Amino acid sequence: MSGASADTIFALASGAGRAAIAVLRISGPESAAALTALCGRLPPARRAVARALRGADGEVLDRAMVVWLPGPGTYTGENCAELFLHAGPAVVDAVAGALGELGLRPAEAGEFTRRAFLNGKLDLVEAEAVHDLVAAETDAQRRQALRQLDGALGALYRGWSERLRLALSRQEALIDFPDEDLPPEVEADLVGAVRALRAEIAAHLDDGHRGEKLREGLFFAIGGAPNVGKSSLINALAERDVAIVSALPGTTRDAIECRVVLGGVPVTLVDTAGLRETADPIEAEGVRRARARAGSADLVVTVIEADAVFEPVSGGLVVANKSDLRSDPRPEVIAVSALTGEGLDVLRARLAERAVALTQSGGPPPLTQARHRVALQTAGRWLGEADDAAAPELRGEAMRLALRALGSITGQVGVEEILDAIFRQFCIGK
Ligand code: GDP
Repeated sequence: MSGASADTIFALASGAGRAAIAVLRISGPESAAALTALCGRLPPARRAVARALRGADGEVLDRAMVVWLPGPGTYTGENCAELFLHAGPAVVDAVAGALGELGLRPAEAGEFTRRAFLNGKLDLVEAEAVHDLVAAETDAQRRQALRQLDGALGALYRGWSERLRLALSRQEALIDFPDEDLPPEVEADLVGAVRALRAEIAAHLDDGHRGEKLREGLFFAIGGAPNVGKSSLINALAERDVAIVSALPGTTRDAIECRVVLGGVPVTLVDTAGLRETADPIEAEGVRRARARAGSADLVVTVIEADAVFEPVSGGLVVANKSDLRSDPRPEVIAVSALTGEGLDVLRARLAERAVALTQSGGPPPLTQARHRVALQTAGRWLGEADDAAAPELRGEAMRLALRALGSITGQVGVEEILDAIFRQFCIGK
């Protein structure tokens, strides 16, 4: 696979908005020429140097730090340069304009990482990890993305591909040389390998979606009767006013969402409105949506009044709010007061425990993307067909299709159609 690109591209790698420094990244065959044109001469390789950057007419556009990074030992594998500009928009525009006049073009979303993939610097799983690392909002997400970037997940998938390729080569030998006296255990061994692989993939898939949930965030539904203090509790947990608090029952008309970080995991708390029958059509719609949301929640937290009796919710948490209105302790529930803050630390800790338990995975790196899940499911299905196949040729074909599905995860085979879908999600400059 060759990634040689004719175009030299540039993009702002740092964020938009007010900042001290803006980083412009350049990659492609004209990088050295562009840098020479801007700086007057090419700086020494891999050293940060201060230079005046000039436009075509010789006017100084900025005094900046520049780094010349000759390929292939670069992120993209191509010749690259990085310009650390003063971050004013006029400076960035002027330098970008000068690069455009030199024949460079603005990069498309994810184009740097796409080139890195095409030049063999990253596999697709690692490229997706770059995206996740850039998007990581919490510590646990950052750790998961870094682990994936380290190549552990890709290595797991490539290892499966290798084993399957070996079994397939044996299967092909059996098909091609049926009359040779191949030892009988060859067939038994390869069928055993197919079964073992199928079981490992099934175990990897059966992970409660932990990696994907950490990546995307959890969803906790806060349910309970009107006026028990659900909105107040969400406000207290979020430490800001997101939900409407009112003394009138049924005033929370719609599911109100709020994103918090619990145990390093992003969690959306949803006030699922007063789940009661109502004649008000708007409120009824809120209740309908709330029920739908609660049905797909990772955890249901039921809020009750401090003294109320309750039905235990299987797998859920029960929180008795308004503990300030009650004098004796109530150990069978998590007693809190959204008003005074009493018990909120305990509640936060219990919610964090659940968030971690729902997303943490020991042992091998977890599955993190729906794309990988679909490919693994496809591979698993073909391995099942291979196991059931009545004839060697059918088994061989099913194994080939399983191998193709596995290879598409890391980008070893048949990837053209998925490249666009993956790199489109990136920001420009990555
Ligand atoms: P929701 O309908 O369940 O969302 O309930 P709200 O959060 O709107 O609260 C209903 C009423 O209960 C409001 O008047 C709140 O001020 C009050 N309230 C909420 N939490 C507490 C609490 O911990 N103690 C006391 N005394 N009142 C509370």
